[in-house]
Amino acid sequence: MSGPRKRAPKNVAVIDPDRCFGALACSICQAACPIENCIIEEPDRDGRLVCAVRVDACIGCGLCVALGNETAPQARDFGCPADFDAIDMMTYDDVVKSLEMVSEPDVEANVSEVVGP
Ligand code: SF4
Ligand code: SF4
Repeated sequence: MSGPRKRAPKNVAVIDPDRCFGALACSICQAACPIENCIIEEPDRDGRLVCAVRVDACIGCGLCVALGNETAPQARDFGCPADFDAIDMMTYDDVVKSLEMVSEPDVEANVSEVVGP
C-alpha cells in the first residue's frame, strides 16, 4: 500500500528515539510497515540515525510495535524487538496536540518530536 491515507487513524505509532537501537543497525520496523516512506530515518539529538514515524502517513496498523507491547492493537510476530520496545501506539489526537505544543500545527512533522527532548 502506498497511496495517500483517506482519513486520520484513531491511533498512530510513536518511536522513542532514546530506545531505538538505530536505523542502520536494525530497521525491522521499516520492514514491518506496509506504508511506503512512513517510517523514516532521522538524526537524534546526538546525531545518531534513528527511525521516526510520519504522522501524516501512519495508518495505525500496529505492525511495527513490539510483541508484548500493551499498546499493540493485535498479536503479531514481527516488529520492534521486545528488548528495545521503542514503539508505542498513541491516539492521533494526542500526538497532533503534542506536536502543536512544540511547534506550529504541522502534522507532517515526525512523531518522534512527541517523545523527544
Ligand atoms: S502503525 Fe502501521 S503504518 Fe504506522 S508506522 Fe507502524 S507499521 Fe507503519
Ligand atoms: S524496530 Fe525498533 S529498534 Fe529497530 S529501528 Fe525500528 S524503532 Fe528502532
